[in-house]
Amino acid sequence: MAKTNVEKLAILGGPKSVTKPAGDLFTWPIITREDEEAVLGVLRRGAMSGTDVTKQFEAEFKEWMGTDYALGYPSGTESLRAAMWACGVGLGDEIICPSMTYWASGLPALQLGASINFADIEPKTLCIDPKDIEHRICKKTKAIVVVHYAGHPCDMDPIMAIAKKHKIKVIEDVSHAQGGLYKGRMLGTIGDIGAMSLMSGKSLAIGEAGIIVTNNSLLYQRCIAYGHYERTGMASNYNAVDKQVTDPQLAKFAGLPIGGFKHRMHQLSSACGRVQLKHYPDRMAVIQKAMNYFWDALADIKGLDSVRPKWENSTKGGWYACKGYYDPKAFGGLPLAKFAEAIQAEGSICAPGTNFPLHLHPLLQEGDVIGAGKPALTMSGRDLRQGPGSLPVCESIKFHAFGIPWFKHFYKAQIDEHIKAYRKVAEQYKKLLK
Ligand SMILES: *Cc1c(COP(=O)(O)O)cnc(C)c1O
Repeated sequence: MAKTNVEKLAILGGPKSVTKPAGDLFTWPIITREDEEAVLGVLRRGAMSGTDVTKQFEAEFKEWMGTDYALGYPSGTESLRAAMWACGVGLGDEIICPSMTYWASGLPALQLGASINFADIEPKTLCIDPKDIEHRICKKTKAIVVVHYAGHPCDMDPIMAIAKKHKIKVIEDVSHAQGGLYKGRMLGTIGDIGAMSLMSGKSLAIGEAGIIVTNNSLLYQRCIAYGHYERTGMASNYNAVDKQVTDPQLAKFAGLPIGGFKHRMHQLSSACGRVQLKHYPDRMAVIQKAMNYFWDALADIKGLDSVRPKWENSTKGGWYACKGYYDPKAFGGLPLAKFAEAIQAEGSICAPGTNFPLHLHPLLQEGDVIGAGKPALTMSGRDLRQGPGSLPVCESIKFHAFGIPWFKHFYKAQIDEHIKAYRKVAEQYKKLLK
């Protein structure tokens, strides 16, 4: 694209690049009469607390994912807690987890009496750095939790090789990347178990909910035994006997949830989920077209990186919380915050930052979560607390990563205005330097 933006920057008093009203360009989830009817149907039947709709949703979900099992949860957090317990994470054990993620990727481990060894991320994928995993493994390490952050797939090949070598489980947190692909494989189906949020802010947004997927029968049974008591083989008051737990070590506790948790999904969510899932592949394809169009139009700008997977047949699913990477060196040292301010003045979206690094938070330094009389991150017998400077990429990523407009439709004329905003600022950055 030729340099066309000779107009004065909006932040310096010029005209804005984005002039058209957004309309439904960013509205998510897309709710139609079909969702309303599905939810009202459950309400009118008085079936909010049942499992019939949830089981239909699970059947459709595992079909879409291509896994043997799917199990619904009231939240992504609870699906991760169950996945960790199913993988054997318990008192005095350790998990490895990226420090820069939403807290639920790791914190459930603390309630299990386990400790977290936080790893660094790669700057250009925002995902766990495969080179920062192996040296953290010890006899107590039970699982690696990987997060396909902001939709970007983790580099699963080296991660799976490390896990296999050390015989530890891999839990994929797919909360940001439903429907995304890594080298042609669905995210969530590569590790031992995939767990994810389906709450309304996420790409596959169905209310408040979560789900796990796996091909491992024992992990599935352990998830049921942990918090889905009415599927363990004892009759409950509204369901026929549902015996999905056959492993003798688990079956002997049938009728009670081993974790003391109640993990049933709300059926207003699963009803909405069935409709959302049906339309998700088509809607995801539109988002991918719009987002790739946006980034392709900015591809020649040095110092702005699109944070897209570089492997064949790999995608960012629904592009949840999509990010770019900014290199101040390419802009004469202009800080990201200033660059972002100028984009915002143009009427577009540029939001510096990501989740904060967990390892520096006081809870992960001093917190005693289960009343053990010592900090949670010392529960395994070694002190896993890490101070400032220990995970440099996580700690400095806020100066580089920024949120971009998340288009839900391919409205070319509108997207072109956002492209113009970015190009205009990138081409005239010198006017922002003091
Ligand atoms: C949202 C989120 C969760 C938690 O899901 P909830 O449904 O909000 O409990 C877990 N991990 C990541 C990475 C998330 O973004």
